[in-house]
Amino acid sequence: MFLKPERTPQIQNRCLGCGKAIGKEHNQCGACAIPDATQRLIHAARKGRLAGHPPAARAKEGRKQRDRVTARSFNSAIALAIGVSRWYAGRIRHGCRPHPQHWRALARLVGVSVQLDETKNQTA
Ligand SMILES: [Zn+2]
Repeated sequence: MFLKPERTPQIQNRCLGCGKAIGKEHNQCGACAIPDATQRLIHAARKGRLAGHPPAARAKEGRKQRDRVTARSFNSAIALAIGVSRWYAGRIRHGCRPHPQHWRALARLVGVSVQLDETKNQTA
């Protein structure tokens, strides 16, 4: 008497989210995996940005931003004092020689008392 071999039942792997049949190497189907994958991607991107910008680099960027704000306010102060554009004021701040008509106002702006000889300064 021989026993007839029975087929062993196959265990199907099912999605933990919706119950759809999936491969053995997965826990979720493609549709159910998207939200978790998106969160993992966002988290990895955040970690990547932090790793790419160490504290020293972030501090340097902060200083640069503060310097830009300071420069902009200096340009505005110069522009307001002598009635020119902020662009022209920025050029003056970077060493471009202003027109002599602005010298007195610029001297007042930086708190310097000057006696300008009007005849000598007309050479510019
Ligand atoms: Zn699913």
